[in-house]
Amino acid sequence: MLLIGSHVGYNSKDGLLGSAVEAASYGENTFMFYTGAPQNTVRSKIDPLKTNEAFKYMEENGIYRDKVIVHAPYIINLANTDKYPFAVSFLKEECKRVEELGIKYLVLHPGSHVGFGREVGLQNIINGLNEVLRDTNTTILLETMAGKGTELGITLDEISKLVHGVNYKNIGVCLDTCHLNDAGYDMSSFDDYLDSFDKEIGINYIKCIHVNDSKNVLSSHKDRHENIGFGTIGFDSLINIIYNKKLEDIPKILETPYINKKAPYKYEIDEIKNKSFNKELKDLFN
Ligand code: FE
Ligand code: FE
Ligand code: ZN
Repeated sequence: MLLIGSHVGYNSKDGLLGSAVEAASYGENTFMFYTGAPQNTVRSKIDPLKTNEAFKYMEENGIYRDKVIVHAPYIINLANTDKYPFAVSFLKEECKRVEELGIKYLVLHPGSHVGFGREVGLQNIINGLNEVLRDTNTTILLETMAGKGTELGITLDEISKLVHGVNYKNIGVCLDTCHLNDAGYDMSSFDDYLDSFDKEIGINYIKCIHVNDSKNVLSSHKDRHENIGFGTIGFDSLINIIYNKKLEDIPKILETPYINKKAPYKYEIDEIKNKSFNKELKDLFN
C-alpha cells in the first residue's frame, strides 16, 4: 500500500489535531511537521487532550499514526564544537516532545562542521547522538544532505560512519531525493543506489523518504526543492522510487514548494496515485 504524505503545519492552539486535519484535506495517510518554527527553538506546551483527539481523528480518517514523522528544527547542529552542549540539550528536549506526542520518528539534519573539518564534525555528531539516544525511545532518522556549505552526511560513506558509530538501536535514515541528486547520486538509477545502501548500511535503516524534485543538476550541492516532475529528476524517476517494492512500508513525504503561496500537495498526491504527470499543474495556481 502507498504511504504518502507531506510536510504540514503545526500550531500550539490545535496541536497535532490541526496537522492531521490538514493532512487529511490533501488525501494523505501520513504526514510530517515541525513542533514549532523550524528556524528557532521556541516551543509551546503540548496539550494531551488535543493529542488524543488527533489520534481518534487519524484512526477515523485512515492516517497511520506509527508512520507520522516529526522534523527537528534545522538550527540544531551537533557537528559544531562551539554549539555542541546547546544542540545536545535541545535535541533531548525535542525527543521528549516527540514521545509526548506519541510519535516514533524524528528526522534530523546531521549537521555542518562550520570549519572544524569533516572528521571532527562527524565525531561530534556521533557523540551527540549517543548522548541523546541513551535516554529516549524516539528513533532519530538522519537525513541525507545535499552538501551545501559544510554539511555532513552527504555520501553513503558518511551516513554509514554516523549510523555505525551509534551504540543504540533507535537510529535510522531518511532519504531525500532532491538532496541525493544534488549530492551526486543519479535518481534515474535509484535501484543501484539502493543496492549500495543495502551493502554499506542496510536497507532496514531507511524509515522515511522525502520525495522532492530538484531545481538543480546532479552534484550541484544546492538543495533547492522543485515540484514533482518540474525538476531535473523528473516524474518517472520519482514514481519509480515511490513505488519501489522494497520500500513499500516506508512513508513518502513531499516537501515540494508552495505555488503562489498555496500548498500543491493535494494535486501532487493525486498525480502520484494516478501515476500521471500534469505539466499544467502550476497554471492551476494562477
Ligand atoms: Fe530536512
Ligand atoms: Fe528533506
Ligand atoms: Zn532540502
